[in-house]
Amino acid sequence: MYFIRFVLLAVLIVLNLSSTLFAGSAAPLIFEHGPRDGSKIALTFDACPTSRSDEYDEKVINVLLAEKVPATLFMSGRWVEKNPEKTKFLASQPQFEIAAHSYYHPHMVEKDNERVLRELKRTQALIKRVTGQTPHFFRPPFGEVDDRVAKLAAETGLVTVQYDLASGDADPNLSPQRIERGVLRDARGGSIIVFHMNRNGMHKAEVLPVIISGLRKKGFTLVTVGELLKKK
Ligand SMILES: [Zn+2]
Repeated sequence: MYFIRFVLLAVLIVLNLSSTLFAGSAAPLIFEHGPRDGSKIALTFDACPTSRSDEYDEKVINVLLAEKVPATLFMSGRWVEKNPEKTKFLASQPQFEIAAHSYYHPHMVEKDNERVLRELKRTQALIKRVTGQTPHFFRPPFGEVDDRVAKLAAETGLVTVQYDLASGDADPNLSPQRIERGVLRDARGGSIIVFHMNRNGMHKAEVLPVIISGLRKKGFTLVTVGELLKKK
């Protein structure tokens, strides 16, 4: 009986914690955007592992630092493992929110529960060890997620965050102008926009200043995912 009461109490505490984080009574399992009635937009940057030895595009980060743009950085464990000093530097910048992007960047929906949990827990532990921070948000690799994976993420203390606007910065066939036009045309209040911070020869650092100033001119405020999803 005491055990049941204890479990109920624990569940209530968890529910109460999540309701202080997110607007609305029933928080969705997977967030693709924030409140549409506001003017906040979150720029997010995935650090996917690559086969390159230098997989950090510091130009992207330099633009964000120079323009003082808050951003959420979704780090894969492999990337952090290969770039611990860069991870530490990024985590030490107050404008950046450090988030999780799995360990080996697998297709999570194809993996069994045990493997999914291992991916998530190992990334959490590594980021905590390197930065002292425990991520609250998880972005599934390849934008592939289902309720099962999102529930496992929630069990690990992670809120699953997708996006409603893909910048296309990783597409070698898109010109910088097309990327800029597309983002500025499609961004709405509450948008979560995805970019990448690993170096793969695309146009991301080139397009960022135009996109940042364009969004600000339209009256949008750039915030982290945590700020975007915070209860008013
Ligand atoms: Zn990725």
